[in-house]
Amino acid sequence: MPSKTIIEPFRIKSVEPIRWTTREQREGLLRAAHYNLFLLQADDVLIDLLTDSGTGAMSTHQWAAVMEGDESYAGSRSFDHFKSSVQDIFGYTHVIPTHQGRAAERILFRVMCKQGDVVPNNTHFDTTRANVESVGAEAIDVLLPEGGQPETRLPFKGNMDVAALEELIARVGREHIPLVMLTVTNNSGGGQPVSMENARAVSEVCHKHGIPLYFDACRFAENAYFIKLREPGYADKTPKQIAQEMFALGDGCTMSAKKDGMANIGGFLCTNDDILARQEKDLLILTEGYPTYGGLAGRDLEAVAVGLQESLQEDYLRYRIASTAYLGDHIAEHGVPIVQPPGGHAIYLDAKAFLPHIPVEQFPGVALAAELYLEGGIRSVEIGSLMFGEAAKMELVRLAIPRRVYTQSHIDYVVEIILKVWERRSLIKGLRLTYEAPFLRHFTAHLEPVA
Ligand SMILES: *Cc1c(COP(=O)(O)O)cnc(C)c1O
Repeated sequence: MPSKTIIEPFRIKSVEPIRWTTREQREGLLRAAHYNLFLLQADDVLIDLLTDSGTGAMSTHQWAAVMEGDESYAGSRSFDHFKSSVQDIFGYTHVIPTHQGRAAERILFRVMCKQGDVVPNNTHFDTTRANVESVGAEAIDVLLPEGGQPETRLPFKGNMDVAALEELIARVGREHIPLVMLTVTNNSGGGQPVSMENARAVSEVCHKHGIPLYFDACRFAENAYFIKLREPGYADKTPKQIAQEMFALGDGCTMSAKKDGMANIGGFLCTNDDILARQEKDLLILTEGYPTYGGLAGRDLEAVAVGLQESLQEDYLRYRIASTAYLGDHIAEHGVPIVQPPGGHAIYLDAKAFLPHIPVEQFPGVALAAELYLEGGIRSVEIGSLMFGEAAKMELVRLAIPRRVYTQSHIDYVVEIILKVWERRSLIKGLRLTYEAPFLRHFTAHLEPVA
């Protein structure tokens, strides 16, 4: 083990200034944004923890690879680099590039599912669910029950409930389940990992019934590192070996390269099935592009090819997981309620426990997110009643950490601001809606403080 202090495993070659605002300015900006942080200009944000998707910093190796991009329409050399990097880790026969994860999902479900089908997943991410539903199939979450309890500490809280999966297959019938998905790590469930043991058990159930297993692999490298840290028998394996072992349990995957691809755009779909691959490539040509670029530039393919390998480097993963836990642990030790244990890419504040005096109808998560912006220019996102309406199970505020972007002093600052807001939490007021769109209202909603 290296030293006790886990430092950023990089030095900074190119800097991007961030801008301070005064509290008075932020009050005006927040009012103008109708208390919805999506409506702020990014330049008015000091520390942006809205998402870890596509917001990471690329390495010198990635930027050098960008210059090597081959922009040929067909048969690009960059596609060969991309394909061999993906196959090295994932091992699947067919690699289909897409502009991001949801494009891979759309193609996969359009080819595999029909009206009335059922797709089980530990937890469907929102775009995954929407794409399953858009072809008339039903998306069912079969997460371990503990996965939905913020305070319960388990090493693999993202695991699928294997008994519930068996029951579901028995109830709806194998013929109505064209595939099972396993999301690693479980983004919507707090970035919690799935164990190898669970993936193996799910794979055995699927294959016993002849059902293909697909991974939603967006945070596969973080998941592999949690397995190395927490699962007996994996301490001496590399994250890459662990990832390879996991993907060998499945028949394909969808991937957003904006997460553990360490790129600002990109994604892919993999399968071992030759017939499906042909249909998927036909659909790809219709909407994304030719199969050797799939809606990406050659330079993007190069950036992903390098980024996938970098995401598995141990010094990077050690820093990544440690810095997320650092934020979570330092606020939790002062009593701030968070989803436990800290996940891979984000810390989730439990707004219901943070602001117990604000009823759910007055959006405690949105009120807390607004307060973090007012106090210190930090942007986060509510995952609760504004986002999901009556279907919301928890009122959370997610602080997602972009990859390789912020240093420990930025995180120390975030801790300081959260603790300041925690001290005067009883003075924070709820909000009410003044405008909402008919669907996905959280992106555009207008709110105002209740009197
Ligand atoms: C981000 C994400 C997606 C969708 O990927 P995009 O690149 O945003 O389209 C799908 N599943 C999970 C788990 C994700 O985190």
